[in-house]
Amino acid sequence: MNSLKIGVVGAGIGGLAAANALHQAGHDVVVFEQSRQFLRVGADINLTPNAVRALDGLGSSIAAAARASGARPTHRISRTWDSGEETSRLAMGDEAERKYGAPQLTIHRADLLAALADAFPAERVQFGKRAQAIAEQADGVSIRFTDDSEPVKLDVLIGADGIHSVVRTAMFGAESPRFTGVVAFRAVVPTERVKGVPNIQAFTKWWGPTPESQIVTFPLNQGRDTFIFATTAQDSWHEESWTTEGSVAELRGFYGDFHPDARALLEACDSVLKTALYERDPLSRWSSAHMTLVGDACHPMMPFMAQGAGMAIEDGVVLARSLAGIDKPAQVGAALARYEAARLARTSQIQVGSRGNNWLREGGNADWVYGYDAWGVPLEIASM
Ligand code: FAD
Repeated sequence: MNSLKIGVVGAGIGGLAAANALHQAGHDVVVFEQSRQFLRVGADINLTPNAVRALDGLGSSIAAAARASGARPTHRISRTWDSGEETSRLAMGDEAERKYGAPQLTIHRADLLAALADAFPAERVQFGKRAQAIAEQADGVSIRFTDDSEPVKLDVLIGADGIHSVVRTAMFGAESPRFTGVVAFRAVVPTERVKGVPNIQAFTKWWGPTPESQIVTFPLNQGRDTFIFATTAQDSWHEESWTTEGSVAELRGFYGDFHPDARALLEACDSVLKTALYERDPLSRWSSAHMTLVGDACHPMMPFMAQGAGMAIEDGVVLARSLAGIDKPAQVGAALARYEAARLARTSQIQVGSRGNNWLREGGNADWVYGYDAWGVPLEIASM
């Protein structure tokens, strides 16, 4: 079979998941990343069973690496901010694995990226390639970079370039993401320091007095560390960053009235990172005859359902399944439409649901999110 020449813009979780899946499907895949190298930024990723199941099909080395460095939260617990009352408890661990075919894993973002990068041929990732201009023609796409190199001609271009995607702008025009008025604090503390807090090896969400106010904690680095993720409304801070330091005193101030167990977590923090949260509305379509989008490029969302990376991984799998066996550029448009048709309703529902911040507050059925199988979901016949 002839393979398609596919370019993926962006070597984040979505781009590398798609690249692995497309390479596995036999295509000639190149990844273009603007950074000079992989950076160890961020701390956590909470991968729910649907995301881990999608990841598992990308190869045994990825599955093994994710399990070797990830932690497996015992439960998913909701507690009320002031009384500490437990309002829901879902068993995760082995029980989730039995039910959904994969466990929940909480993993350092850089460890997940490394697992995805190690499984993909290194010579097929080009660093220092910032996509600048994209032009679609009848038989493919050409892409130009800021380094003044010759444009590259491709059969398919995948935009995996995050919330500020230039591929998305090339397809649909410029439109800035919206600041949500919410900021997020992230900290990692040694678990030893907070071992007195009940259920410290569980994923626990403290629901605050307003919809934006919450503290989430879960184990990281196989339980040796505890990750703390807190959000609150704050209109005056607009900086979006994985690396900007925040103030621990400010963090503690926001949650000063919370239950002593929640405050004990914040007391253990020496430092904290702070970022503003941005989002966009769902798109009604995101593919053309030779271009499509995955991950935050098409559906950036609030972190309240912890599904952004999971959706990006699922996208990559379904995209590769849609393009499997396709060897003529003229067939690409129908395959991309099939991918989009399989993904659009689910990602839009989760994008809008994440905005609401009430997922599993009082319990409820998580199966439609956690039970999704990206490797088995039916692909409809679609025409352009
Ligand atoms: P990105 O990670 O943004 O990657 C885009 C890549 O494209 C980057 O490497 C970038 O350098 C590159 N790029 C950008 N522009 C260009 C260009 N012009 N040319 C070339 N390369 C380019 N999700 C979860 O599933 N679970 C969680 O627990 C979770 N927690 C989160 C907490 C916070 C505070 C935030 C903000 C998000 C969280 N998410 C979570 C969401 C998750 O981080 C994102 O959905 C996910 O990282 C998106 O991956 P991506 O590959 O689509 O985009």
